[in-house]
Amino acid sequence: MIERTVNFSRLRWMRCGTCSNEWQANDEWLERFHEGDEPCLKCGTNCESEERPDFWTAQDDPAHGDSVVRDTFWYHTSTHANWPDREFDPTASITDITKRRLQQIRPDGTGLERWAAQQKSKALHLGTYEAAIENMLRRMTDQNDADKQFYLYRVRLRPNTTIEPGVHKERANIAGDVQLAELGEPGVGVLRYVNTFEDPSSISLAVTLDSILAVQMLPIPLTTNPEDPWANAAAARLVMAAALETLDTTPWREV
Ligand SMILES: [Zn+2]
Repeated sequence: MIERTVNFSRLRWMRCGTCSNEWQANDEWLERFHEGDEPCLKCGTNCESEERPDFWTAQDDPAHGDSVVRDTFWYHTSTHANWPDREFDPTASITDITKRRLQQIRPDGTGLERWAAQQKSKALHLGTYEAAIENMLRRMTDQNDADKQFYLYRVRLRPNTTIEPGVHKERANIAGDVQLAELGEPGVGVLRYVNTFEDPSSISLAVTLDSILAVQMLPIPLTTNPEDPWANAAAARLVMAAALETLDTTPWREV
């Protein structure tokens, strides 16, 4: 299995939406770009254009190769201690009023069952170690999850899982509520997309539950002030080496 080198401050790949020029950028350049002070080096398109430069994956990213994707450890962070859970009941966390409303969406009274089935077939998201950690930090600061216990998951894909060709653009519906069946050919278990929010320009995966073979899990202890994203980011980097070492001795749970 392949464990990628962890690096939270790597250069980011950019691709211009107007002229398709590609280049690497550091944090300082990206800050100037997002302020409108730095355009595409070739055609001058800046961040205000609809066809603006955006994060894009490196042409030599090994995850372009299907066999590499299957042989790589992928990561996910969650507030659930038993992710991914085949027995997950999406109706457990909604009120009786909401249940009745969902039930009545369809005239034959099957609205709730259909909603639950859709929730259960939503794509799961895997990414690099850095993307998983950054996702956790973002949830802690943006979504009031600061006081929750988080879990880091290391994931192995099934060796025979079908991978949709190519790397896709990150769309709101890839990262949000989406059935994998809507994104790729029928039977596809894994769809690659460019992550533009976490570990930007890295490749992340939208996957079906059935494409996951097994997971290792580690509770993430954070002893710093969860209100402070900088302290969290620093803590995440410090625990990183220890986390990966601990995962190496953690048993795999088949999914
Ligand atoms: Zn350009």
